[in-house]
Amino acid sequence: MVISPGLLKELQGMVGGANVLTSPESLLCYSYDAAPGLRSDPEVVVAPGSAGEVAAVLRLASQAGVKVVTRGAGTNVTGATVPVAGGIVLLMTRLNRILALDEANLTLTVEPGVITSVLHGYVEKRGLFYPPDPASASVCTIGGNIATGAGGLRALKYGVTRDYVLGLEAVLASGEALRTGGQTVKNVTGYDLTRLLVGSEGTLAVVTQAILRLIPLPRAKRTMLASFSSVEAAATCVSAIIAARILPCTLEFLDKATIDCVEAYAHPGLPREAAAVLLIEVDGNPAAVAEEAEQVARLCRERRALEVRLAQDAAQEQSLSLARRSAFPALARLRPTTVMEDATVPPSRLAELVAAIARLGEKYQLQVAAFGHAGDGNLHPFFLADGRDPEQASRLDAALAELVETSLRLGGTLSGEHGIGLAKARFMPLEVGPTALGVMRAIKKALDPQDLLNPGKVLPP
Ligand SMILES: Cc1cc2nc3c(=O)[nH]c(=O)nc-3n(C[C@H](O)[C@H](O)[C@H](O)COP(=O)(O)OP(=O)(O)OC[C@H]3O[C@@H](n4cnc5c(N)ncnc54)[C@H](O)[C@@H]3O)c2cc1C
Repeated sequence: MVISPGLLKELQGMVGGANVLTSPESLLCYSYDAAPGLRSDPEVVVAPGSAGEVAAVLRLASQAGVKVVTRGAGTNVTGATVPVAGGIVLLMTRLNRILALDEANLTLTVEPGVITSVLHGYVEKRGLFYPPDPASASVCTIGGNIATGAGGLRALKYGVTRDYVLGLEAVLASGEALRTGGQTVKNVTGYDLTRLLVGSEGTLAVVTQAILRLIPLPRAKRTMLASFSSVEAAATCVSAIIAARILPCTLEFLDKATIDCVEAYAHPGLPREAAAVLLIEVDGNPAAVAEEAEQVARLCRERRALEVRLAQDAAQEQSLSLARRSAFPALARLRPTTVMEDATVPPSRLAELVAAIARLGEKYQLQVAAFGHAGDGNLHPFFLADGRDPEQASRLDAALAELVETSLRLGGTLSGEHGIGLAKARFMPLEVGPTALGVMRAIKKALDPQDLLNPGKVLPP
């Protein structure tokens, strides 16, 4: 459906002319996200400034049969915001207010365009904590986190976004608004529509407000780095820490290729002689943290760590945290096409997964690297190539398909935290049985009968 001049005028009347973009440069900017090689221009970008404007735009779109792709910061890595069928990109970044902090009930009500790290800073200044912490927190939005069910560096101990969403306000494709959940930690009234919308990748409704659960800010933390001469030694150490009944808030793994790249890029002082490092953070009350940090350091040494380095001050902590957060930009500099995958297996199968990634690199002649959230078995294998060359693109594609099969064979899942989007929709039948897939299709049809919201995403054609 081509957007007519009349429709464009109506959109401008709804949200203001300055918030409707149609220049070729603007359309190009919103034609892609952080997924390499996926691109398609929208016909128009519309940035509403309120929930009422979102509803008005959706009402108009549904009357005219125009597709709508909701977008936060566009940092997803699955093509989830690529407007494959043209139509409207609904940009949520103007809805960026923190609306209410309820300190008595430990909740925060926000609009979806709030940047995740802004939210972190806001609550932490007040001694409160919102744990979900994707590595992209400095740019991504809470709306995007909710719609992808984002995880992050603190998931092992604290869980993921869905564990902190108490209630939502959302608008359906028809333009009708609904509220789900509420302010209470406990709520079992009817079907759990909040959880249905979390992770639905903009295919079921547009989130316009969220009530988030907060917890008290841990009073102390200790950060450390442990280096190992083999991946197996690092993986065994991860299992040993968990078996010792210690849950670090962060337990990140970096392989040799990532260590070299990050060191050359950000110089955080990683040991280049190591085959793998673990970045570990324990938090909680000061006495327990001191004891756990000591225990973890001992376990690492017992598991033949080459070195265990405890950060002595905030600057050293910052530097270790930077080492992990620089992994993507450091690796992305190497080749024109950087695919960050999201392979997730039970943590005890981590070493097998790392070995399989190396084998795939050899088999398909691709540069590979791996880092990620070792504590919860969620690795981010990197495949580097030049996707402009059809032959390399086809090898890349075959390697990714085999990685998916490998993760499933090891008892894992298609996606631990990045979602399905466009890139992985074709693999859905490998994990989700026909009956469950049928249920998902029925839900989509009930909420969005014209298939207007984010078409082509999540469900295979
Ligand atoms: C360097 C880097 C590091 C990353 N690290 C992590 C990580 O540690 N953990 C992790 O989970 N992810 C990570 N990601 C992926 C990405 O940042 C997350 O998926 C994030 O949640 C996306 O937020 P966004 O605002 O960019 O959303 P977008 O990319 O704009 O959108 C993502 C999806 O959400 C939908 N959407 C956005 N806003 C709304 C809304 N208001 N209502 C309904 N649907 C909406 C979109 O339609 C789309 O389907 C990383 C990405 C990069 C580039």
